Amino acid sequence: MENYYQKEIECASREEIKALQDQRLVEQVKHVYENVPYYRNLMEEKGVTPEDIKSTDDLHKLPFISKADLRDAYPTGLLAVPLSECVEIHSTSGTTGRRVVAFYTQGDIDLWHECCARAVVAAGGTKDDIVQVAYGYGLFTGGAGLDGGSHKVGCMTLPMSSGNTERQIQFMQDLKATILCCTPSYAAYIGETLHDMGLSPEDISLKAGIFGAEPWTEEMRRDIEKSLGIKAYDIYGLTETSGPGVAYECSAQNGMHINEDHFIAEIIDPDTGEVLPEGEKGELVFTSITKKAFPLLRYRTRDICVLTREKCSCGRTHVKMTKPMGRSDDMMIIRGVNVFPSQIETVLLEQGYSPNYLIEVDRVNNTDTLDVFVELSSDMFSDTVKEIAKREKDLSIAMRTMLGIGPKVHLVPAKSIARSEGKAVRVVDKRKLHD
Ligand code: ADP
Ligand code: ZN
Repeated sequence: MENYYQKEIECASREEIKALQDQRLVEQVKHVYENVPYYRNLMEEKGVTPEDIKSTDDLHKLPFISKADLRDAYPTGLLAVPLSECVEIHSTSGTTGRRVVAFYTQGDIDLWHECCARAVVAAGGTKDDIVQVAYGYGLFTGGAGLDGGSHKVGCMTLPMSSGNTERQIQFMQDLKATILCCTPSYAAYIGETLHDMGLSPEDISLKAGIFGAEPWTEEMRRDIEKSLGIKAYDIYGLTETSGPGVAYECSAQNGMHINEDHFIAEIIDPDTGEVLPEGEKGELVFTSITKKAFPLLRYRTRDICVLTREKCSCGRTHVKMTKPMGRSDDMMIIRGVNVFPSQIETVLLEQGYSPNYLIEVDRVNNTDTLDVFVELSSDMFSDTVKEIAKREKDLSIAMRTMLGIGPKVHLVPAKSIARSEGKAVRVVDKRKLHD
């Protein structure tokens, strides 16, 4: 039987959700127009006033806001309440350029934690569960978000933060943690360490994991589920929209329900900005309709995915998003071909390799080069040089089929590629150093 944290809203009719969004959007546009001069200017440039926004049908009239705007307005230019109303900040991991700082009122924090609580319950969490939070605590939203969600459900929460992997496993055993929350790359590392310590999934009590904050493939999910003996659920969010819990997976494990009472999602063509019909792939855009301190309207996430309102077996009615393949800025253009790291990951795991890899892009004599470093697994250890060369070639061919270009594959010794305790760094683009 499916459990819900807030059944009435999670399973509300489409009409109810639309009516709620209409009313909240109208109020939010007024709030932002009156309190954020930066966005008011963008609206004036576009010739839109709050009176023009009568329902979600008018959403497309509003200007977009992008990461560049966040940088321009850094640090407080998009704040919509006096600083004295705020109780906390979080900040992006700063993967790309200047940090973004997001502000929260106490009300914002409560709603954010409720969103995370829905994710915990959707992953099977109840007050009897023991939730090990191994996302980083601090400025990063992962630790704080899942910690808050776990508290709301009434679970016993282990605020481990990331790192010290053997201690994570020790606590997991001693306190019989049932749900693990961390990045998927860290979950894979914990699984590997468990095995290295001579333990198996039977030696721990985990039943589920809530993993997100970075792209991961279905192959990676299966890998983690096997190594930890759990069901692995995806969770999505970004600092600009509070953090994790914007969307989360249910028992169907095929796409994440977006908390539509708090966020309106759109998919646009990243080149033209035009709104695309449901089912088409494009850039995800979010409008926060309940956040007070840092309410972004039509924020361009640069994450590429698809939305669907098909009926879900779990009974929830909120729109679902597919796993983002990666951000548009994670996409590498190599000799004119678009390549996502997740495509390379898919091939590696399908071919029985571990998710420990590094992609290196460079430019030699004006030609882009693509090198993929992958670890040999222990059963390949005794392979001869000839066998290894054959494996490298086979992998390169499999990748050519998937990507349209064949990288040079290098099989390297086990454990020679750095493990991730947070967001994994998969790509080194040396071209940027030369430019
Ligand atoms: P940064 O932008 O510095 O990485 P954030 O921690 O705010 O800081 O990261 C948010 C981004 O992380 C999202 O825009 C998305 O690209 C990625 N992300 C978060 N959750 C997922 C997920 N479940 N699947 C794929 N990507 C995700
Ligand atoms: Zn569902």
